[in-house]
Amino acid sequence: MDTYAVVGNPVAHSKSPFIHARFAQQTGRIMHYTALLAPLDGFEQTVLDFRKTGGKGMNITVPFKFEAFTLASRLTDRANAARAVNTFRFEEKEEILGDNTDGVGLVRDIEVNLNFPLAGKRILLMGAGGAASGVILPLLQQQPGLLAIANRTPDKAASLQRQFASHGNITTGHYHDFAGQRFDLIINATSASLHNELPPIPADLFQSASLAYDMLYSSKLTPFLELAKMQGTEHLADGAGMLVEQAAESFLLWHGIRPETQIVIRQLRDHLRHPAS
Ligand code: NDP
Repeated sequence: MDTYAVVGNPVAHSKSPFIHARFAQQTGRIMHYTALLAPLDGFEQTVLDFRKTGGKGMNITVPFKFEAFTLASRLTDRANAARAVNTFRFEEKEEILGDNTDGVGLVRDIEVNLNFPLAGKRILLMGAGGAASGVILPLLQQQPGLLAIANRTPDKAASLQRQFASHGNITTGHYHDFAGQRFDLIINATSASLHNELPPIPADLFQSASLAYDMLYSSKLTPFLELAKMQGTEHLADGAGMLVEQAAESFLLWHGIRPETQIVIRQLRDHLRHPAS
């Protein structure tokens, strides 16, 4: 049987095995998809060991997306632009194809599932890690009115600005640099919610926003979404839709078929509410 895995640290929270099992059922594929915890200094070894046992492909999650970029021997254009990889396809002659499906997953969730067109919108992206890096090009391609990146370590945001300079204008800084500014959409691409923490968001930043989007998915509101709700943001969304959409793109890369996502998003939400389902 073909085997696939999501690799990360931590990884126990990942719902990718749940999603890919639903996709396999839906499309009649026989496959096994598991979650692998890699030691922080043992990503490459974990990937190579999995491949040796016959693994066909992997998803890569926090904090290994940059290391995955380095490990890939061939890259899709979007992974090359992001310099971050969330999908491996193991190929002949030891080749590892690296792709990044996070951006297309996020944009599809926001524009199609949430019906929130991005053209002309003022967007604040919080975080400058692997997830942020993967979504910048697809966000710029929707021609927003402004794309700003705030990060706890501002140098990393500035480095993303230089990396994507040929694709569009990006403003960067620390969180406090954006105090008093108006944004239509605020996206949390930090891993703070994973630890039940909140990035140092300036007071009232959410008041003008109509959508607050946390890439983390959870059965309850994350601290980021709680704050947005308290400050009156009209629409709140977590990353469940993005997760299913990016998984569908990975599934397409591996199997040549894009599964139906709406039903799996509903199944995932039910599962998050009732984990035994
Ligand atoms: P990385 O480890 O690559 O980056 C983490 C980022 O979070 C960095 O910018 C870091 O800032 C910032 N950060 C961490 N803790 C805090 C904090 N307490 N306050 C402020 N900033 C903080 O992680 P990824 O980019 O791979 O993942 C980020 C998140 O996105 C994770 O929660 C992941 O689960 C989620 N995700 C969801 C997806 C989905 O499909 N729904 C897809 C991809 C990711 P600094 O640079 O200063 O260290």
